[in-house]
Amino acid sequence: MMDTLGMAPASMTSRVTSLLGIPLDLGSHTPGARMGPAALRIAGLAPLLEELGCTVEDAGDLAPPHPVDPGFTPENAAGCLNLEQITGWTRLIHDHAYDLLARGRLPLFLGGDHAISMGTVSAVARHCQEEGRDLAVLWVDAHADFNTPETSPSRNMHGMPISFLTGDTSLRPLLGDRPLKPVPPPDIHVFGARSIDTAERRRIREYGLGCTDMRTIDEHGIATLLRPLIAEWQARDVHLHVSLDVDVMDPSLAPGVGTTVPGGMTYREAHLIMETLCDSGLVGSIEVVELNPFLDERGRSAKLLVELVGSLFGRTVLDRPAARTRAF
Ligand code: MG
Ligand code: MG
Repeated sequence: MMDTLGMAPASMTSRVTSLLGIPLDLGSHTPGARMGPAALRIAGLAPLLEELGCTVEDAGDLAPPHPVDPGFTPENAAGCLNLEQITGWTRLIHDHAYDLLARGRLPLFLGGDHAISMGTVSAVARHCQEEGRDLAVLWVDAHADFNTPETSPSRNMHGMPISFLTGDTSLRPLLGDRPLKPVPPPDIHVFGARSIDTAERRRIREYGLGCTDMRTIDEHGIATLLRPLIAEWQARDVHLHVSLDVDVMDPSLAPGVGTTVPGGMTYREAHLIMETLCDSGLVGSIEVVELNPFLDERGRSAKLLVELVGSLFGRTVLDRPAARTRAF
């Protein structure tokens, strides 16, 4: 790991950073992401954040809940993989995430596969509504995760969280009687996509989901593409939730994931995203998902993710005074 210079900005040190491990890997047929929280801790996540000036509390890992029958569920949703278990998880995650936000914490959720977002982001959306603040989500991922039970070829629920979060009615019973504030699709932006199912492609157009694919990144570069998004979010003073799926990286850099797709981000591209988001001063909650230590090579994917989180919290190679003054 490189030498650490720089400090986390005041927007991220004014609150206690709370790590919450979510060992859920029932969102697909590939087990192993349940070990993600342990691997991220072993790779040195908390000491790095403390070195950057953050106050860190580790809330531990959530214990697997009992399965819950979601009650009335449209017939197509009933065929989803592990529906009852994920219903139990979604409600448990939502309650804990909402509590952390209500206590003023900066949550850093350690997945777990991307199905955890149905609990985490729904809690963030509920919190933002109560605070009278808009929510924007940057979904850094090789996939759009915008399938529904009807469109999903696999019925794997880690490919459905954005449909749930934007209000798909067939998935609504997962949250039971807890309030769900649907996130408008244009306020969720998938960044780094390169594997999108045919039905998802149609839905992205139909609903206006934000989406930047790898070809666009190749052609224009990270900074050019992020700048207008951040400018718009700053003008609205949004709460920005960052959802980082390790499969956005090129598999040669991060092999520890069950859904590798060739042609992913380089080391510097991913760090530039995190550095730019840090500079924005908007980040209010974070999750790192899909790390599968069982598929990793001597912890290199876990170490890379910890370094990326370090950049999100202000680690820099050289001090950059302009970066602290909302350069956008
Ligand atoms: Mg994903
Ligand atoms: Mg993915």
